[in-house]
Amino acid sequence: MEKKFETNAVRTQLERTQYLEHSTPMYLTSSFVFEDAEDMRASFAEEKERNIYSRYSNPNSSEFIRKVCQMEGAEDGFAFASGMAAVFSTLAALLDSGDHILSARSIFGSTHSLFNNFFPKWNITHSYFKIDELDSIESLITPKTKVVYAETPTNPGVDVLDLEALGKIAKKHNLIMIIDNCFASPYLQQPIKFGADLVIHSGTKLMDGQGRVLAGITVGSKNLVERVYRFSRITGPALSPFNAWVLSKSLETLALRVDRHCENALKLAEFLEGNEKVNWVRYPFLKSHPKYEIAKKQMKAGGCVVAFEVKGGLEAGQKFFDSIKLLSLSANLGDSRSIVTHPASTTHSKLSVDERAQTGITDGMVRVSVGLEHVDDIIADVKQALG
Ligand SMILES: *Cc1c(COP(=O)(O)O)cnc(C)c1O
Repeated sequence: MEKKFETNAVRTQLERTQYLEHSTPMYLTSSFVFEDAEDMRASFAEEKERNIYSRYSNPNSSEFIRKVCQMEGAEDGFAFASGMAAVFSTLAALLDSGDHILSARSIFGSTHSLFNNFFPKWNITHSYFKIDELDSIESLITPKTKVVYAETPTNPGVDVLDLEALGKIAKKHNLIMIIDNCFASPYLQQPIKFGADLVIHSGTKLMDGQGRVLAGITVGSKNLVERVYRFSRITGPALSPFNAWVLSKSLETLALRVDRHCENALKLAEFLEGNEKVNWVRYPFLKSHPKYEIAKKQMKAGGCVVAFEVKGGLEAGQKFFDSIKLLSLSANLGDSRSIVTHPASTTHSKLSVDERAQTGITDGMVRVSVGLEHVDDIIADVKQALG
């Protein structure tokens, strides 16, 4: 019988060693040994599947990859040192000079910079579409378009993209659909069900969930992952065995943690919705969210991030931050500790006011990554800071 998500997360394990350990040990080794000359020859010729060198593969990375593949319904994967290493290496492996990326405009800041400032060096161009205007996407597709790229829910605006609709467009035009699924985590949303060919995660966020390690992973169809693997084993963005071990352990509690993140986030969103100091609140599982129905269709719950706007613009926004006592002012998200950020003055300050407006960021906007403290304490801190 096929096992459930939580069971696979806890029970997926590598072969035991001679010591019959219960919990997977850490394989802090850069290389692996061979029986004899023939074993070494056959291993390098890839006539057998085995570990050779930890830039290519390592038991801890393999366990982490196997778990994420089961969670996402993917055939294979490769693990990276960070989320951005996964984004860069995946695209660099698949794209040639002259190719074109069709991307949602609301994407992670560093991915945006990669598309705008670095890919043009290799003559890889892009066009952005608004996730509200999927109808107009087809007019942006050129004969050179190879990849369609998006994130949902978006950062920091917490907008939701219709994965099924995008999947149909990608299929019709024979494009490789790549979804950065880091905001939802594989527990809440599995883009492959809706037509994605590859799914990317920053493991730094909900997967680790405790703010300790950087990591990234790409999973998906075997033939595309094979190309990502060929590129990455040469260029060297591999995840360290220690971080892989941490992450594989973290995944055992992913479902439990994310359930509580979502429960707390929904309660905070409901509190904010009724507050007179707040202009608007956005959270995918609030009925007032413009994409509530789509969120319900493709997500199990609303995620850990709530966005809202403090009345009074930039000044009121900064006053709110200076009054926060319990929550952290930090740049991460998906951590057990709740975190507040002010996108207009920090993560998105390099964008022009116009670009910020296009991604839905206003001066008074606050992003909260709701953590695992008791929800009463989270709400109490936000309430006193608004006062
Ligand atoms: C954080 C993040 C990344 C980058 O991940 P790193 O581990 O910081 O390199 C990519 N995409 C999204 C949506 C993120 O939130």
